[in-house]
Amino acid sequence: MNEADSENIAAAFRRRGYALTDEIKKADAVVVNTCTVRQRAEDKAISQIGRLRLWKEKKPEGKLFVVGCAAQKLGEKHLKNRFPFVDEVVGAKAIENFEEALINQYGAAEGETSAHQNMFRSPQTAYVTIMRGCSHKCSYCIVPAVRGPASFIAPEEILKDAREKLAAGAKELVLLGQTVNAYQSGKTTFSELLKKTLALPGLERLRFMSPHPLYFKEDFAPLLAGEKKLARHLHLPAQSGSDRVLKLMRRGYTRAFYLDLLKKLRAAAPGLAVSTDFIVGYPGETEKDFKETLSMVDEAGFSMAYCFKYSPRTDKPEMAADISEAEMSERLERLLAAVKKNSRVILNERIGKIEEVLFESETYGRTSGNFALRVKAGGIPGTVAAVLVTGAEKNTLNGKGVLA
Ligand code: SAH
Ligand code: SF4
Repeated sequence: MNEADSENIAAAFRRRGYALTDEIKKADAVVVNTCTVRQRAEDKAISQIGRLRLWKEKKPEGKLFVVGCAAQKLGEKHLKNRFPFVDEVVGAKAIENFEEALINQYGAAEGETSAHQNMFRSPQTAYVTIMRGCSHKCSYCIVPAVRGPASFIAPEEILKDAREKLAAGAKELVLLGQTVNAYQSGKTTFSELLKKTLALPGLERLRFMSPHPLYFKEDFAPLLAGEKKLARHLHLPAQSGSDRVLKLMRRGYTRAFYLDLLKKLRAAAPGLAVSTDFIVGYPGETEKDFKETLSMVDEAGFSMAYCFKYSPRTDKPEMAADISEAEMSERLERLLAAVKKNSRVILNERIGKIEEVLFESETYGRTSGNFALRVKAGGIPGTVAAVLVTGAEKNTLNGKGVLA
């Protein structure tokens, strides 16, 4: 979500004739797009802003913008008091109106918004935001507070954005939202939106992130079964393998529900790769609960998992972590080791199979299941080809060459 917001901000600057630079010394403007999902992210953003004092001293005419979720949480007043050299603060709820901050600083712009240029993934991948905010209100999560309740973008607007990005050279689209599969605008459901997007000319592959286990409807599995351009990969955050913890987290599903959903989706799309997010050390998580998370890694067969230590995001005392930092680190280490071991197994299972690869260069691409894959030669960038997987190394599959 933040990457997509940063893309839009960069596009607004490009429209005014600016270009991206990696060298802060050369920059005429700096935008710090902040995250606050965990305290560490917020702390990192704050120290980054602090370090920009020097840049501003050397370049007083340079403009510093602080935007995003931590900006929303901390507020303009607080940030400008603490860092008087900040020119503009734009919180996450107003981030679509970033243009207003630009007008404030530079006056109105004339040119057209420039074509998409992905700075985070490959240039052939484009993000398309389909909803903003979240109304789920998981107990540990600050997103609904800083991004506001769920609101869905109209399908016509989404399809216009998607068409423009495809016309500018994107081959793969990633539909984005916090509970992306809860999409509903008028009569258009998530599956209908997927169908409409899949029909756009120039699209080679469609992904979406992040779905929530509760919101898949009956029509999704048949769609996945029939639409080969719909990626054989889901990033489906589980958060915990313990029913007790899931309930405390207010996720709204049980472990059995989650695993059953995977079974149904894998029956529709054999070989479906699934990655996930886990939180360790949620208040009240016992060793027994944690072991259930560990065993779920194996049982669900996750290809990858982002694992986080619980970070209290509210001032409520009952939400404070109740195991020590050392215990939390120890659980995280054990979980990471289980995930790594399992990822290897899942990767090795692909050896001997044929994968559909969207090539980014002659020798590198990504499979539909989102595994990185290398061949010696023969890939045509921007096109999908079948590859027989002959081996696996670290996190990457190897293939001999492209099949006819
Ligand atoms: N909307 C997505 C997740 C968005 S936040 C979903 O519901 O799945 C991204 C991830 O950050 C979450 O999946 C969760 O694992 C992690 N996260 C959120 N709040 C956290 C907290 N307070 N402490 C630790 N991790 C957290
Ligand atoms: Fe946060 Fe995701 Fe839960 Fe929404 S669904 S509250 S974004 S973890």
